Amino acid sequence: MSCAQEEVSTQSLHAGYVQMWHHSLFHIKSMGLLCVVGLGIPTAIHRRGGAATVSDIVSETGVHPSKLPYLQRLMRMLALSGIFTADQPDKSDPIYKLTPVSHILVQDSASNPYDMSPLHRILARPSTAISTFFSLEAWFRDGSATTLFEMAHGVPSWSLTKNDGSYNKDMNDSLFMDSSFLMDVMLKEVGSKGIFDGLRSLVDVGGGHGGAAKAIARAFPHIKCSVLDLEQVISEAPSDGTVQFISGDMFESILPADAAFIKLVLDCWGDDDCVKILHQCKRAIPSRDARGKVIIVNFVLGQGTRDNVALETQLLFDVFMMRYGGAEREEHEWRKIFLEAGFSDYKITPILGFQSIIEVFP
Ligand code: SAH
Repeated sequence: MSCAQEEVSTQSLHAGYVQMWHHSLFHIKSMGLLCVVGLGIPTAIHRRGGAATVSDIVSETGVHPSKLPYLQRLMRMLALSGIFTADQPDKSDPIYKLTPVSHILVQDSASNPYDMSPLHRILARPSTAISTFFSLEAWFRDGSATTLFEMAHGVPSWSLTKNDGSYNKDMNDSLFMDSSFLMDVMLKEVGSKGIFDGLRSLVDVGGGHGGAAKAIARAFPHIKCSVLDLEQVISEAPSDGTVQFISGDMFESILPADAAFIKLVLDCWGDDDCVKILHQCKRAIPSRDARGKVIIVNFVLGQGTRDNVALETQLLFDVFMMRYGGAEREEHEWRKIFLEAGFSDYKITPILGFQSIIEVFP
């Protein structure tokens, strides 16, 4: 070995070898979770009073009895990963219980009002989320402006929601539940911080099926809430009269309101497009009235994160959003966009040590 060559201790070589195995197999965890959610296992454990053996699970779900030993192995792996707990894991048929992760995937509104299984399914959806990343290496070698999503699927994401009804439905259902959950939490956590004080009207830009707008209208019935989204989204939106649905293009115009609310939309776009969208938001809100503001709900990388899991998840999602040409942003990156769009000031309030609310003022 030459002196210039990096010396690697036997100990770190061994550690690197094991970690390489671990990182290479991450997809098994994600696909294993997708499978147990598809089989309805969190719900089956819940139906059994929150504790079940794999034999119980087999009799509750559509798992073929011949697959029992395989399911035991899948459950053992997911329990070690924190998706379930197992009493006496060494026993041949341990009792599995729910953890906070599997509880939020239970499909029973009485015990879990926020069923996150649609969100999990869209994040790990084989045909649109997973397979897109098969093209990642080719995309890095490509010099054109084609997005990763377009390279993988032949059309931009928001055209695919038009052409593929099941993708459109999965997208709208998953974000409806995410918005209902996050807004209810946010309104409880920040309800007293005055973010919605004094508002008489609000437009939810790219608001999907109105999960956020409906939560705001429930909490503040005097605020007239509208939802703007693409025609293929609005035409499928279940309307209960609490919010007004409008189909249109946020790049062209946004209905005037005291506040423009925009959740998980700007991270789908590059900086130039964000500036264009925020320009339209600015035109929609009053500029000389203290009420006028844009309320953004998105990650601000590193803001308020309480642990490494939250930070790593933000960075995983940043790479996930690369497929659209979008990005998760640090505070200084957000500030640059706000100034370019003609705004003068902003205020960040972290929620759950994970997402943030950014109020942006003209
Ligand atoms: N704000 C919602 C949905 C976020 S997903 C939520 O957090 O629950 C991004 C949304 O932007 C999708 O509903 C998509 O249809 C919408 N969108 C994309 N391009 C748009 C455009 N040009 N005009 C209006 N909405 C658009």
